[in-house]
Amino acid sequence: MLLTNALLPDGRTVDVEVADGLVCAVRPAGSSAPSGRLSTDLAGYLLVESLVEPHAHLDKVFTADRAANPLGTLAGAMSGYEAVLLASDAADIRRRARRALLILVGHGVTAVRTHLGCGRLLGLRAVEAFAQVREELAPFVDVQVVAHVGGPALDVPWSRHARILRDALAAGADVVGGNPFSEAAPDEAMDACLQVAVDAGRPVDLHVDETTDPSVLTLRRLAALAAQAGVPVTASHAVSLGAVAPALADEIAAEVAAAGVSVVTLPATNLHLQGRGAHPAPRGLTAIDALERAGVTVAAGGDNARDPFNPVGRLDPLETASLLVTAGHRSVDQAWRMTVPASRAVMGLPEAGPVVGRRADLLAVRAQSLGDAVALAPADRLVLRAGHVISRTTTTSSGPLHEAGLA
Ligand SMILES: [Zn+2]
Repeated sequence: MLLTNALLPDGRTVDVEVADGLVCAVRPAGSSAPSGRLSTDLAGYLLVESLVEPHAHLDKVFTADRAANPLGTLAGAMSGYEAVLLASDAADIRRRARRALLILVGHGVTAVRTHLGCGRLLGLRAVEAFAQVREELAPFVDVQVVAHVGGPALDVPWSRHARILRDALAAGADVVGGNPFSEAAPDEAMDACLQVAVDAGRPVDLHVDETTDPSVLTLRRLAALAAQAGVPVTASHAVSLGAVAPALADEIAAEVAAAGVSVVTLPATNLHLQGRGAHPAPRGLTAIDALERAGVTVAAGGDNARDPFNPVGRLDPLETASLLVTAGHRSVDQAWRMTVPASRAVMGLPEAGPVVGRRADLLAVRAQSLGDAVALAPADRLVLRAGHVISRTTTTSSGPLHEAGLA
């Protein structure tokens, strides 16, 4: 496969040769010897590594119209969602998850980490239902499933509830997840989640401190446990770290860095849910600057889409990058690095992109620069996975403006 006339983010226009799933040559445009290879002209397109989504909730997606969250808070979303959850059968979960995955792939996403609820209310229904969707779409997208365990009933100890996590791993989940900070006994919940992961040798990805209350700092305990765990540990959200004094944020960021914990910030959902009723209203993002200064890998994800936790959301990492520029005070380049390469690192995926030797998971998007791509999120995209075109979206325009040759 030869991709010709592709613009790179550094401004070069190149031809890219792909073989055996890898990028094997990048040459100045027009310098490739003619051959009988399959060739695609990417003139007008920016070529970058494919997108990844490090944090989705594909069991909840597309339920915004079924569940109310009049308070607009995390607690409101959780209680609003319970009714939906109990009414969702396996076919419904599959239908919504499949629709979301197809949109993600069309946008250029070739790997997704999704949290799927399991536990007291849902049992293993979502994990088991999703397995069929994952298998069907395996040729197009790698999916990592996080068993997102919900709290047990009050009279059930975590030691027994941990069994649900183990059953979820046996049923196909890859990663141990949960919300220890919001449980009745956060320390016990976190210890149980870590123990299951260590015993099974699986990564951990927890929802951590999803609150602007600076007194809630379970992140410190997670860092202490992670230092001994021997498995990859990710702290998603870590919102309260953004609400503490700068010196304390630096101190905790150093602990997180020393423990090798990665952080995923989720601007869309946190901006929507956090700080309701507060004045002045906080942004609800983690302490990105402190974490990056300490050397922590900070990635960014989309989190919820069209559900009670986030009634909008485009299932497009370019939207996440754009939000990081606006609300996270990142440059476009910084936002891109957090949203794509850092997310790949958090998910333990090999590097990809138009660089010799890297995996040919690629996205060509009709844009004149990375800034254009992030700002405009153009619909016209060509997605390659391991060197094969898996999706191509082209839009057409018509009308007098176009017929007159003005656009
Ligand atoms: Zn989440």
